[in-house]
Amino acid sequence: MNVYDAERMMDLLTLVGYEAVDTPDEADLVILNTCHIREKSAEKVYSDLGRLRQAKSSRAESDAPLVIAVAGCVAQAGGEEIIRRAPYVDIVFGPQAYHQLPEMVARVHREADAVVKTGFLAESKFDYLPKPEAKGRFSAFLTVQEGCDKFCTFCVVPYTRGVETSRPTADVMADMENLASGGIREITLLGQNVNAYRGVAADGDEWDLGRLIAELAKIDTLKRIRYTTSYPAEVNDALINAHRDVEELMPYLHLPVQSGSDRILQAMNRRHNADTYRKLVERLRDARRDLALSSDFIVGFPGETDADFQATMDLVDEIGFVDAYSFKYSARPGTPAAVLPEQVPEDVKTLRLQVLQEKLNAGKATFNQHAIGTVMPVLLEGPGRHPGQLVGRSPYMQAVHVNASDDWVGQIADVKIDAAHPNSLAASLMGEQTRRAIA
Ligand code: SAH
Repeated sequence: MNVYDAERMMDLLTLVGYEAVDTPDEADLVILNTCHIREKSAEKVYSDLGRLRQAKSSRAESDAPLVIAVAGCVAQAGGEEIIRRAPYVDIVFGPQAYHQLPEMVARVHREADAVVKTGFLAESKFDYLPKPEAKGRFSAFLTVQEGCDKFCTFCVVPYTRGVETSRPTADVMADMENLASGGIREITLLGQNVNAYRGVAADGDEWDLGRLIAELAKIDTLKRIRYTTSYPAEVNDALINAHRDVEELMPYLHLPVQSGSDRILQAMNRRHNADTYRKLVERLRDARRDLALSSDFIVGFPGETDADFQATMDLVDEIGFVDAYSFKYSARPGTPAAVLPEQVPEDVKTLRLQVLQEKLNAGKATFNQHAIGTVMPVLLEGPGRHPGQLVGRSPYMQAVHVNASDDWVGQIADVKIDAAHPNSLAASLMGEQTRRAIA
């Protein structure tokens, strides 16, 4: 979502005359769009700011001073504290305030004081942003939901992104129509808890995510729909049915489980246990036989024993995830788990993460190996690693390198998988299509 947000900031700044440059040295304005989810990502902000400080001071006397802004969830959580720690920062604003960027920049040029905007606003930023454009691409993100009310005990999201809100259905449909008419063929619907989507429709109805997906699929030129990130306990029948009935909904689902231990899941305040997660996966696979699953894991949550960790390893074996993000538990200020006794020592976390990642990587490699010899549709998006190659995504999110000419860019081609690498596949166009392209 930070990628999406950063792009929307750029869209807005383009309207008032900014253009993107490649390095901070060329810039009049630098925005660090930050993440607060783990300590490491949050700390990175201050080292980046240190470097920007030098760029700023070397330009202090010039008539184009450098304006430095900190955006995103570190800004939201830190507020004034960021200005105290880094007084050369001009603007601090949270994820819900970036539509006010042009005014904030104007104020910095007018007044000496820093601008801090971290309140949760009554207005929706989406009403103040320009329509999203395809910009020559074929695949895009679209935020439909923000915030989270689930209060997992490890997680800062409810405090930084705020309560769950859903964009009205008409707004989402209008953005999608605009993207599709510009050439977008694949959309990834975004939300911190995307399947909590409850969008108000013009007739007063409420659409859940399943309904939204079904309606989006009616847009003729939109061929592929994905969504992320989902909260397992909130997967409802409509969403499962969408996986069964909507051909455009890709057979790939990111469904964070976090742990395989019921004790730890309960301490995390997750609303699933290992068994309900297993049963949910079964239901999803009954709806869509070739559904591939990816997940998120936290190792070393306070109190996690070897037996708890083993339960996670067992669940990975049972489900067979094709991809995953896994992290060491990182204590986040203000969250309940941060003050639990029994914090797990760093070396134990490191070891568990390594063991888990080995298993997860092996699962991914096996999945890629199994693709060899199969034929699958790939949305070819642009140049690949080598000349004469294009790269695209399989339905299961694998990166696929295909020997194909440039006129295939933007098309969904059936390709035969020739080889599997740890993080990508190599493929060739099916014969008939090659002839069609040459003709
Ligand atoms: N909505 C998702 C969570 C998205 S946050 C869900 O319900 O599961 C992205 C991922 O970051 C989480 O799934 C979790 O694995 C990881 N994460 C969040 N807080 C963390 C923390 N304090 N320490 C380590 N990893 C964390």
